Amino acid sequence: MTRTPLMAGNWKSNLNHQEAVVLVQKLAWTLKDAKYSASQVEVAVFPPFTDIRSVQTTIESDRLEFAYGAQDLSPFDSGAHTGDVSGEFLAKLGCTYVIVGHSERRTDHGEDDETVAAKSRAALSHGLTPVICVGETAVDREAHGASAVPVAQLRVVLETLSKDSDIVVAYEPVWAIGSGQAATPLEAQEVCAVLRATIAEVMGSDAADRTRILYGGSVKSQNIASFMREKDVDGALVGGASLDVDEFSRIVQFPKHIIA
Ligand code: PEP
Repeated sequence: MTRTPLMAGNWKSNLNHQEAVVLVQKLAWTLKDAKYSASQVEVAVFPPFTDIRSVQTTIESDRLEFAYGAQDLSPFDSGAHTGDVSGEFLAKLGCTYVIVGHSERRTDHGEDDETVAAKSRAALSHGLTPVICVGETAVDREAHGASAVPVAQLRVVLETLSKDSDIVVAYEPVWAIGSGQAATPLEAQEVCAVLRATIAEVMGSDAADRTRILYGGSVKSQNIASFMREKDVDGALVGGASLDVDEFSRIVQFPKHIIA
């Protein structure tokens, strides 16, 4: 099965709504000049909540070929949950995706695997595709190897989802996020292959074939092509480099750097 590569820019807590519009417009111009086609590589941006309405308006009014989503959502649909943003609101804003279980939320907000599972279900119930982040710390890796923790994290979520769920998985070794020290393509491939086998075991082989697995952690234009050569890496979740339009557009244009 052919999976369309997905390049996802996680802006984290950066860019206000005016800066967000400027970035999206510049990205569109840069990729248009480069003759980018969404049928070859899908681009998605993940702005802060407060930018989403402006990003939606820009993308819709200029008919840009970008998807967008949120960096988190509430496990609840509505009610007395101060500060929470529900999947219903995100769907109403035209979001396609929502990131769940990013390591920064697991660390800063104590989110455990059950919370990530509840958020994934909340996303799916509103027609949003959860981008489920998993990954090991350096200490986990030392103690248990690379794949044990990400596989265990993913399994808890998958076991609560229906088998036909449309999901994206992001393998993000915590030690590689924002550190400038990316995993090697082979390290990424080995864990992504085990994650795909886990999807097959829990959700079936069709789900494993169609689900895109992204690598995340210090992805740059210089290393993206080497990750994308790997069989089980279907794209990237990009943090810092997604804030630089030229750099992110070079990442999106990775097929130009791959010599068949
Ligand atoms: C991330 O935030 O998901 C990430 C991978 O960040 P960076 O690309 O900056 O390492």
